[in-house]
Parts: sequence; structure tokens; C-alpha cells
Amino acid sequence: MGSYEIRTVGDPVLRTVTDEVTDIDASLVKVTDNMFSSMYDAAGIGLAAPQVGIQKRFFVYDHGEHSGVILNPKIVESDGEWIFEEACLSIPGLSWEIIRPKTIHLVGIDLNGNEVSIEADELEARLFQHEIDHLNGVLLLDLLDDESRRQALSKLRELDLRRTPRLPSDPGELRLP
Ligand code: ZN
Repeated sequence: MGSYEIRTVGDPVLRTVTDEVTDIDASLVKVTDNMFSSMYDAAGIGLAAPQVGIQKRFFVYDHGEHSGVILNPKIVESDGEWIFEEACLSIPGLSWEIIRPKTIHLVGIDLNGNEVSIEADELEARLFQHEIDHLNGVLLLDLLDDESRRQALSKLRELDLRRTPRLPSDPGELRLP
């Protein structure tokens, strides 16, 4: 298994809306293997294709209880509210309390081409929403209020991520998608 460099904020690939997956072939399977490996290396629980420079609609995840690959994921229902300290492998070193729906119903397809339908709650629901944001070019920064976003951007400038995109991530105590 190989491993990919995880792209960080400032990389334009993180801002693109991805294309649907139309073919499931051996090369896609190999890509997802490498994505799992990159995700585990970074102590993450989810990784979306754009985070490794691929403009396609899929992500891998493993939050301890369940793991998998979801192609062309879609949220068909969401309910409730849940606040969670959320971070991102593509924005190393920062995290914010973000409110999102607590439960969601996710549909998509797996690597065998079978339909997937998951009723997800709390961490799993959070993870799926976070990865789908990546597939739409959305980052956590977009979910912050103006003041938090200003602070975040100034911190990012301090960290100078734009000029050192290979800065290793430090997940610390947080489990990062
Ligand atoms: Zn992320």
C-alpha cells in the first residue's frame, strides 16, 4: 500500500466540486487502499478524494465501529442538532465547535457497486457530513461565523500553510476527518 500527501487549505483542489464516480475498476480500488493508508498514517477517521488531489465523489472512513468506502454519497434526510468539536486533516492544528444535524440518512454505493443506505448518528453522522462537504469544495472555515473565520484565517497566516503545504499534521488528542 502506498500513501498520499494530504492536501491542506490553500490548495485549490480542496475548493472544487467533484464529479460522480462512473466506473468502479481496479485502479479505484487501489486508490481507496492508499487513501485508507494515508488516513491511518494521519490518525484520521475519514478522508475524501479531494484531500488527496482527486476530483471524484467518494470518501473512505473508519471510526472504529464501522469502516468503508462510499461512492457518490448523498444525504437524503437529516434531523436534530449536535455540537461537536470538529477538525480537519486539511486544516492542521485548528478545531471549532460546529453545530450540524445529529442524525442523517446517507445513501451511496460501495466498491462492489451495491447500494448503501446508512442511518448515522452523532460521530458517524458528523463524519459523513464533513466528507460530503469536501466533495462539494466546502471546508470547515465556511461554517464559521465572521469573527471565528477572521481569527482562523489570521492563525492560518501565522502557520503559513500556503507556503509550506507539506507541513505535517499534528492531530493531537483530536480524531480528525
Ligand atoms: Zn476534512
